Amino acid sequence: DALLTRIEGVDGKTGAYVTVCPELAEKQAAAAQERLDDGESGALLGVPGGIKDNICTSGATTTCSSKMLEHFTPPYDATVVEKLGAAGAVTLGKLNMDEFAMGGSTETSYFKKTANPWDLTRVPGGSSGGAAVAVAAGEAPFALGSDTGGSIRQPAAFCGVVGLKPTYGAVSRYGLVAFASSLDQIGPITRNVEDTAVVLDAICGRDAHDSTSADYAHPSYTATLGKGIKGMKIALPKEYLGDGLAPSVKHAILAAAKELEKLGAVCEEVSLPATEYAVPAYYLISSAEASSNLARYDGVKYGFAADGCKTLAQLVTRTRDEGFGREVKRRIILGTYALSAGYYDAYYKKALQVRRIIKNGFDSVFADYDLILGPTAPTTAYKLGEKSGDPLSMYLGDIYTVPVNIAGLPALSINCGYDEDGLPIGMQLIGPAFGEPALLQAAYAYE
Ligand code: GLN
Repeated sequence: DALLTRIEGVDGKTGAYVTVCPELAEKQAAAAQERLDDGESGALLGVPGGIKDNICTSGATTTCSSKMLEHFTPPYDATVVEKLGAAGAVTLGKLNMDEFAMGGSTETSYFKKTANPWDLTRVPGGSSGGAAVAVAAGEAPFALGSDTGGSIRQPAAFCGVVGLKPTYGAVSRYGLVAFASSLDQIGPITRNVEDTAVVLDAICGRDAHDSTSADYAHPSYTATLGKGIKGMKIALPKEYLGDGLAPSVKHAILAAAKELEKLGAVCEEVSLPATEYAVPAYYLISSAEASSNLARYDGVKYGFAADGCKTLAQLVTRTRDEGFGREVKRRIILGTYALSAGYYDAYYKKALQVRRIIKNGFDSVFADYDLILGPTAPTTAYKLGEKSGDPLSMYLGDIYTVPVNIAGLPALSINCGYDEDGLPIGMQLIGPAFGEPALLQAAYAYE
């Protein structure tokens, strides 16, 4: 009730939610209360949270912030939603995002803009902007986001909260509306590291419904949190501190490295020379996969269908013309081009080769180091509208987050200070595959 009141009070200003679900929440809360009365306990039992609107919920529409899915209610729950339900969590509602998770500012949502609670004239980051804002503005104690190239970590950085992109395969993608299947992962956004561990404990693990989910032994992430970081070796790639990085962000990252050293870690400079190729490789691979994944929106199977069409070709063409926004169309065209005969070798195949080189670069650093430290984003939150007309400058802002998805690694963003305007700065810790325990331990010690 308190959270629903809070949402009613502030969401008109922040715009975090696409849909608020008071009836669903009350029903789930009553069920959780019964379990509590029966003597059950659990870290998430009765705890409300919000869900990014590209994660399927059978009890509420799942729009991907697109006109294409405006009225779409999935016939099933995503595995993560099912798992949260089993843990007794309560769904407050569905959170705003860039259309089909394509963007870094939540401005490509078909429905509305979301504002950064630290300064309502600024973007919250994206694409999980609604999720980060809900947590930062006290409209949800936790949220689930998705991260294909930074969409959990960058909005977490812009809003001063914690966001974790798990290792590829650590969390089931079943019921996550696909953007780029080889890069997408679901993860938590929370106010502190312990809450991230609690949510990860609840949602992780192998799922027979997702053949890319991994069968791996994971410790209780909450139980190993307090181990400390004495003797941990942390690498600082010099390419993450170079041109284009705002001085205030660089300063905060170097100060955080000093802080980690005080806590017993050893920080050293390393090199990840393929970093400059990560953004082009990411936009080729993610757009290629998106062009294939989004082929399913044809006006026949589900979602929006254009009116008054006389032929099937007309139905498909007009549905996609009217149902998708500009950024989504841009990605589909880019991806289709990169996969076309004659261009495939020059673009898509080349991008896959770069992908391998980036992965090898990380592997060689992790042969000697436990974690990598750097900024989450080159700047703090910018003004609403400042970059929305300039996709290239928006894409370049993904430089520090996309290499992680390309290599399938886990990474976490946590606040490490404020810039001269009082806006939060995020630092990113990157771990080796399935290195979430060390990642969470370091972030917990730092916090
Ligand atoms: N900003 C990146 C993009 O626009 C990342 C998006 C994401 O992680 N979903 O593709």
